Amino acid sequence: MKKNLTRRELMQVLGAAGLGAAFGSRARPAAAAEPSPEGSGFDGGLIPSSVPPHAPVALAGGKVIQPQRELPVFHQTDVLVVGGGAAGWAAAVAARRAGAKVALIERYGCFGGLWTGGMVLVVIGTHARENGQARKVFRGVGDELLSRLSRLDGAIVKYGPDIPNPTVDPEATKYMMDEMAREAGVSVFFHSWGADAIMDAATVKGAVFESKAGRQAILAKVVIDASGDGDMFAAAGAEFEQRSYAIGTVHRLGNVDRLDREKMKAAGQKLPPLGAATPLQGVTWVNVRGPKGNGLDIEALSRLEMDHRRDIWNRVQQVRRTPGGEPACLLETAPQLGVRITRVLGGAYQLTLKDARDGRKFPDVVAVGGGGGVMQSEWQIPYGALLPRQVDGLLAAGRCISVDARLLDDTRLIAPCLMTGHAAGAAAALAAQTGCRPRDVDIPGLQKLLKEQGAYLG
Ligand SMILES: Cc1cc2nc3c(=O)[nH]c(=O)nc-3n(C[C@H](O)[C@H](O)[C@H](O)COP(=O)(O)OP(=O)(O)OC[C@H]3O[C@@H](n4cnc5c(N)ncnc54)[C@H](O)[C@@H]3O)c2cc1C
Repeated sequence: MKKNLTRRELMQVLGAAGLGAAFGSRARPAAAAEPSPEGSGFDGGLIPSSVPPHAPVALAGGKVIQPQRELPVFHQTDVLVVGGGAAGWAAAVAARRAGAKVALIERYGCFGGLWTGGMVLVVIGTHARENGQARKVFRGVGDELLSRLSRLDGAIVKYGPDIPNPTVDPEATKYMMDEMAREAGVSVFFHSWGADAIMDAATVKGAVFESKAGRQAILAKVVIDASGDGDMFAAAGAEFEQRSYAIGTVHRLGNVDRLDREKMKAAGQKLPPLGAATPLQGVTWVNVRGPKGNGLDIEALSRLEMDHRRDIWNRVQQVRRTPGGEPACLLETAPQLGVRITRVLGGAYQLTLKDARDGRKFPDVVAVGGGGGVMQSEWQIPYGALLPRQVDGLLAAGRCISVDARLLDDTRLIAPCLMTGHAAGAAAALAAQTGCRPRDVDIPGLQKLLKEQGAYLG
């Protein structure tokens, strides 16, 4: 069928196919047997096709061959952020506020990644413990987000200057992340899966992404890999190591405030965990550790996800069968599987647990971590941990930055991910604006910008 048919031509084609009546009039049958809220006003109008021209993939001699082809350039920007989790969102907001043009691609339809879609609701790592006192290290755009959540009803609990590790509501968090990204002026492209790095020799110049509109390119002066799994640095040929880690599925339970705990105790059974409080009354979130696995293996991930859902369903039924536990219900399993760690960047500097324990000071400090994983007192994160060793035009942020295996349980927490995201965004903006490589960014200038944007550097 040719592309832009007139309505008359379309009617002729459809008429020949016996479908004309369905499109022939806006009028609907007066009384459907079962009236439905989907029943009226949804006629689809013809719009120009949005699938870019492509060369078909061929099966030749048993091999699948993709012919060389030119890709449409969908967008050009200063800074492209791949992944809209805690780190990517903070990077995009910080870079845009620093004056750079910023685009962000995210494979799902919301910000937050594991924090919201993965329903990991406790923001750990906000405070360090010094001399028995909690001292706040978590500031900047991430803390501004929490502070704005604290002004909404039912959005956050346990938030305050001396209170570590607040718990958020995922919907409120998604909403506020949208608001702040919009206010900053980030060009947001959800439903876009970063598939490849665009390279000029060893310099990243943008990313290829897949969406319902096909395979397209975004060109950028600096790309930030905030995919959590290092998809971009792996595609760009940067050094990394890959780890297997515990993979779980978080879920939320409802009516937990209506359980008769005494009666349940009297039943004498060992019951599954009922989770931790959230901002919504009677709703808890349940963390699941899960078995170790390769978070890049789709077969294993699919099996695990189905196994987790079965286990969770059975656990909730067990609670409901227990006297006193009847009101409990499963509200939802997290739409995003809880993959904790996969690829970890081999960076210009690999931060170690020893550095953190020794309280090592770095001249290029860009963030300060708190307690929650292995660490309790504050520790510095240097810019070198965000920089690939050889590849240029690229920074990493969030759970995939360059650290040794023993510090991963601290750097992957939500607060440090928000902070390394903030740092990567500010650095990328400076690199794009001054036309230098990210590795040549003026460190005092970067630290000044971060402080102006509210970050704490020790
Ligand atoms: C089960 C579990 C429990 C945890 N418990 C806690 C806890 O209690 N407290 C705490 O502080 N931390 C906890 N963590 C750790 C923390 O949640 C994560 O490490 C942190 O949220 C990671 O943030 P991130 O932005 O680096 O990565 P992610 O949240 O993984 O974000 C990456 C984003 O990039 C997108 N993306 C990925 N690949 C692509 C691509 N190729 N193209 C486009 N988009 C892409 C993803 O959809 C996602 O939105 C837990 C983690 C898990 C899994």
